[in-house]
Amino acid sequence: MAVSLTFDVDGFTAAYTRDPVRAHERLGRWSEFAYGPTVGLPKILRLLEEYEVRATFFVPGYVAELCPEGVAAIVAGGHEIAHHAYMHENPLGVAPDQDEEILVRGIEALRRVAGVRPVGYRAPAVETRPSTPALLRRHGFRYDASEGGDDYPYLIETADGPLVELPAANGDSQHFAYGQDPLRGTGLASPEAALDVFAREFDATYRRGALFVSVYHPMYTGRPSRLLWLERLIRHMRRLPRVWWATADEIARHCQSVADRLATVRPEVPAARYLRPEPSA
Ligand code: ZN
Repeated sequence: MAVSLTFDVDGFTAAYTRDPVRAHERLGRWSEFAYGPTVGLPKILRLLEEYEVRATFFVPGYVAELCPEGVAAIVAGGHEIAHHAYMHENPLGVAPDQDEEILVRGIEALRRVAGVRPVGYRAPAVETRPSTPALLRRHGFRYDASEGGDDYPYLIETADGPLVELPAANGDSQHFAYGQDPLRGTGLASPEAALDVFAREFDATYRRGALFVSVYHPMYTGRPSRLLWLERLIRHMRRLPRVWWATADEIARHCQSVADRLATVRPEVPAARYLRPEPSA
């Protein structure tokens, strides 16, 4: 089994997603989102250091520019920095011919601020389109972590070679997204209830010897009771032997080395399960 903790550092950009015109003037709203990269992130990094876990952080370019010290701390902790658009642009909200410009802007921001050339991508709101995998391969990306098409990693065929897909199992948004105007989420879940969901999913994934990629946001999971929740979850997951804890890119590299054993899907047909026999382990 492979485990990768991944953090989407949406921060300030999420404020713009919700109110592109006045985000900067709405200090109350802005502060809720700023909490992620400025307050939640350092606490999460300390927790990961304590448990000696390396993780992957998907950082929008604009967040990197506004919070270079946060990005530097991620790199200093030995974690991976990956791509999460520039202004957290949801592909559904932009014309397809803008995708490449946004991708390049994000790459350049991460290169400039973090000195990193990202090889992993997660789409904002996990919205990708059939043209996304080819675009990512053209720009040298090794993997995407936006889909949810299988319990195991798979390959997405493109004209420039296969893109590794690391499908995610669980996210904190479903439990802990909150906010007013516009109203988000369905009310905060009890950390106890969320732990039950995550722990059961982890245990079942362990039995299948599959992939457990989970998604967290410092603006949600960085809050005090949710941080304790993440710690309890890490402790739960760490009690089992023979689990490979890795960054998403380490898993993607491994996938490339065993590519002949992975299912391959075409971008327009993300139906991995139909193309491969059920693994025996
Ligand atoms: Zn995001």
